[in-house]
Amino acid sequence: MDYFRTYTEIDLGAIRRNAEAIKAYTRKRLIAVVKADAYGHSVVPVTEALRSVADIFAVATIEEGVALRQAGIRKPILVLFSSFPEQAEQIAEHELTPTIGDWEFADRLNDIASKTVRVHVNINTGMNRSGVCWTEAEQFLNRLKTLPRLDVEGFFTHLSTADETDKRFVFVQLDRFSSVLEKISDGSELIHAANSAAALAIPEAYFDAVRPGLSLYGVYPASEKPIKLEPALTWKTRIGWMGFISEGEGVSYGLTYKAPRETRVAMVQVGYGDGYPRALSGVGEVLIDGARRPIIGRVCMDVSVVRLEPTDNVSVGDEVVLIGRQGVSEITVDELAHRAGTISYEILTQIGKRVKQV
Ligand SMILES: *Cc1c(COP(=O)(O)O)cnc(C)c1O
Repeated sequence: MDYFRTYTEIDLGAIRRNAEAIKAYTRKRLIAVVKADAYGHSVVPVTEALRSVADIFAVATIEEGVALRQAGIRKPILVLFSSFPEQAEQIAEHELTPTIGDWEFADRLNDIASKTVRVHVNINTGMNRSGVCWTEAEQFLNRLKTLPRLDVEGFFTHLSTADETDKRFVFVQLDRFSSVLEKISDGSELIHAANSAAALAIPEAYFDAVRPGLSLYGVYPASEKPIKLEPALTWKTRIGWMGFISEGEGVSYGLTYKAPRETRVAMVQVGYGDGYPRALSGVGEVLIDGARRPIIGRVCMDVSVVRLEPTDNVSVGDEVVLIGRQGVSEITVDELAHRAGTISYEILTQIGKRVKQV
């Protein structure tokens, strides 16, 4: 293996097994969400690993869909967010499945398409960030039927509180969705609503297909853990420098850490320029020589500083685990997110371009 300063190791087998486990658990078709570079796991290898398990791949943007086509992915690719009329040509050319959420885009797509374009219609039932409002869906669909080159292959909605303990609003959304489906669906369309949280905890949200993202990568969106998922990503770096600092000396910008006694420190080669959150300044932990060691002082752009124990058996170049296992110790992406005051989704998708994906 090449020698990398900081890198993630992606276990593609784990992603495939997670997808199989979710499919077996829900017994529905699988729309595998691989947006944002497969949640930072490298979208092309991930989609290749999921080729035989996923029925449809879902991305957020036209650009992400085009990139998958250019990588040779032939499966249907659903673009989850409504696109701009200017992108209609690209959609037709690359045979992407766009989401319809407004009239202008639908009309333009119909205009430029030389053959039938399969589309999914997003029904807004309460997330209130995209889609056709559920109270207007019937009227919208009647109008959509006048566009001869659009073939409505699916209807979906997105849940705003599936990962919360109080699931009451989930059922409000599902009731709205079902009441609309009664009017607009002829039973032939693919109906879907369940993100990871719903796929793991809310069978009423399954319909024909589930649409998980996070859980494919072995991370649970909420406290419900009905099946065993394997984390697929390990994030590592290396020790770049070591030394001892005297009592009273400070560490890193602003000298926010002051050594209470002579202290052994190590610089590790990761910083906020790699997506390692600056919010971990003084609160993060890493694994070195199989043990947890604290981040001291401020996380810098390129490096961070860790406090070592005098007895740690380490040298420059040694491996440091930021997310994952080392020996019997483990730092999960959830733990890191919690310490940084954010969510696992943000940690995974912020891992930077400078971090090699292995
Ligand atoms: C991102 C996204 C998903 C996947 O959500 P997870 O919580 O990662 O499972 C599903 N549907 C839509 C519309 C999304 O934007």
